[in-house]
Amino acid sequence: MDFKNSTILIAGAAGFVPGHVAEFYLRLGANVIGLDNFITGTRTTAELLQTNYPNFTFIECDIIDGLPDFSNTKIDYILSLASPASPIDFAKIPMEILRVNSEGTRHLLDLAVEKKARFLEASTSEVYGDPEVHPQVESYFGNVNTVGPRSCYDEAKRYAEALTMNYHWHKGADTRIIRIFNTYGPRMRPDDGRVIPNFINQALRDEDITVYGDGSQTRSFCFVSDLVNAIHAVLMSDDHTPFNIGNPDEYSVLETAELLIKLLGSNSKIKHFDLPEDDPKRRRPDISKLQSQTDYRPVVGFEEGMRLTAEFFKTLH
Ligand code: UDP
Repeated sequence: MDFKNSTILIAGAAGFVPGHVAEFYLRLGANVIGLDNFITGTRTTAELLQTNYPNFTFIECDIIDGLPDFSNTKIDYILSLASPASPIDFAKIPMEILRVNSEGTRHLLDLAVEKKARFLEASTSEVYGDPEVHPQVESYFGNVNTVGPRSCYDEAKRYAEALTMNYHWHKGADTRIIRIFNTYGPRMRPDDGRVIPNFINQALRDEDITVYGDGSQTRSFCFVSDLVNAIHAVLMSDDHTPFNIGNPDEYSVLETAELLIKLLGSNSKIKHFDLPEDDPKRRRPDISKLQSQTDYRPVVGFEEGMRLTAEFFKTLH
């Protein structure tokens, strides 16, 4: 695959998933322009990409306010990956989350129309809320509490999907939509608040593992390299409707804690805390649509992925 003559604009490039997506296309020879305001992205990721890839250009900006002047720049693909996504962000920066997924996404879509660039919106499994259908299929409309603590993200992403489809129908934008399920891997922030960084770092320090509720709630964890392959598969497909992307291997949170203690040879004990409000009880992507239309298959299993992630966190200790 040759992307040497392609330019890809990645909003949120200093974030965890977008940083890996940027690296994937940089390795294929694309010119990548990364945008980030560092609200949750890190300077370390931006610097790592700048240091290792001469074909990477970074611009610090907040896409809520508008985009840099690209009038003389050819842009072939625009990836809308700029949104805080951890539940601890929902209470801290709700306005920024609502605005980046509405005003920010609209700015990117307008640019996509102007440049005739293919546009990809990174939506989320959160559009299904606390799902009553399991596993979640794309045709399920979801069960979201519009006035709950997660609504700033869930509803903003539902709006971003609607905006994307309407730009496709009414403004001729060439769009793709992905719904990303739980993803983990190297370069996650250790203080990100999500279950895998919390559990791995607690296990590495022999601290109590903080299981919220009884731990019977489930998640399906996808290693970041598999996720990047899925994003690429959807970007290259011809389908404008949403695709679930992730790894359908499902674990309860308690099981995840127990497996990590064993895998990392930790002396940590499990300690239970209150379950956050509206915490989804079960989550697993049905990825049959993606698998029937592309050759995507997740290949990194739980043990291998968790080991690689733990190796990364060890370098920070
Ligand atoms: N969780 C937990 N302990 C933690 C962090 C998270 O038990 O230290 C639980 C959380 O309540 C949820 C699941 O792990 O049921 C996944 O949470 P995360 O914040 O990673 O993302 P979510 O899938 O809820 O968006």
